[in-house]
Amino acid sequence: MNNQQLEMKFPLISKMQRKEEIIWFNPNKIDSEEALKNVSVTAEMVQDASDRLDRFASYLCIAFPETAKAKGIIESPLVKIPTMESSIKKFFHTEFDGELLLKCDNALPISGSIKARGGIYEVLKIAEQLAMREGLLEETDDYAILSTDRFRQFFSNYSIAVGSTGNLGLSIGIISAKLGFRVTVHMSSDAKQWKKDMLRSKGVTVVEYDFDYSIAVKEGRKQAEKDSKCFFIDDENSIDLFVGYAVAASRLKTQLEQMQIIVDAEHPLFVYLPCGVGGGPGGVAFGLKLIFGDYVQCFFAEPTNSPCMLLGLMTGLHENISVADIGLDNKTVADGLAVGRPSGFVGKTLEQLISGSFTIKDKTLYELLALLADTENILLEPSALAGMTGPIHLTTQGVPLKKTTHIVWATGGGMVPSQEMQIYYEKGKQYLF
Ligand SMILES: *Cc1c(COP(=O)(O)O)cnc(C)c1O
Repeated sequence: MNNQQLEMKFPLISKMQRKEEIIWFNPNKIDSEEALKNVSVTAEMVQDASDRLDRFASYLCIAFPETAKAKGIIESPLVKIPTMESSIKKFFHTEFDGELLLKCDNALPISGSIKARGGIYEVLKIAEQLAMREGLLEETDDYAILSTDRFRQFFSNYSIAVGSTGNLGLSIGIISAKLGFRVTVHMSSDAKQWKKDMLRSKGVTVVEYDFDYSIAVKEGRKQAEKDSKCFFIDDENSIDLFVGYAVAASRLKTQLEQMQIIVDAEHPLFVYLPCGVGGGPGGVAFGLKLIFGDYVQCFFAEPTNSPCMLLGLMTGLHENISVADIGLDNKTVADGLAVGRPSGFVGKTLEQLISGSFTIKDKTLYELLALLADTENILLEPSALAGMTGPIHLTTQGVPLKKTTHIVWATGGGMVPSQEMQIYYEKGKQYLF
């Protein structure tokens, strides 16, 4: 199909080219149970990841004392945000039904973003496999031993490489360096200076590129291929990352129960997930569909300049189309979402499960950032606000939302230095007034 044919077949593309904020509903979504039969990832794989994270809890307690309170489980709060809820209704002149909650992955320990789920999980799995292969570790051991010099010495024979727009690099860099691995992060041009500085201060090798995310990943992959003792964390294709993210779902279920929030046919759950290459939001959405089936509806949220997953899903072309193909520049303040080409693996895994996807302008991200700071005193990075307009889009489109619980997944912000955050906030305030 050439561009003209694409635009004829998918009228939304012309709106995307005009950078309008749009929502797309997935016509390929089917009954969850049926859809789950058509994919290669299984509930057992997610359970295996959850069990592995439990085994590592005693290590994490020691290596990262900030996790000790939660006994080494890396998890974030789920909170109601009623003041923000009334503010956005006013701001968008739109009432919506249901209650608005925020999943605060900005407060995840170790790296302050959703990447503390999948990214850290994958490195832990590599460490476990290496140590077991060498006969140094068994599943029944207390994994606290991994914090000893003997293990650090052992892991220093191996290296980890990753390509990243920033947050994945932070997560992988921090955990890998802590375990003792040599680690290289290939950073795209969007990556913020403070992230590079922080990683270097922890002994991580940072390689910078003048190009976007795809190039950083490609170079990382190339480096790893040359070295049999180097493991490449493949953000575009990794099942381990994906299942690490998916573990969030069973934990969320427990949190909802503790808050006495019911999820069933009469009380649906709508979840709005900021999406870059797709692994994080895709993994979480997949985990949620495993647990809540048709009672949960998951939507991706992307910048108007980088709607790669929406484009890949809508056209069915997945990783074979990029936002550049429709003339978009992939430039956005939402650095975590600055991805031009989606993961084909994630797109294909979610194509019958995801409810839809919507886009948001940078200006709206800034405005919502300042609104959330003023109303709830919660500071997020711009990427993490992308899901906030979900209930507005759905109401505008006439989707019934009575007795709905809306969860906006706040994917990051916990490590942003305060001066940087102040700049974001002030820009948001300027837009608001
Ligand atoms: C990485 C990231 C995302 C999106 O995750 P992907 O796996 O790239 O889709 C969303 N928000 C923030 C803050 C991120 O760092």
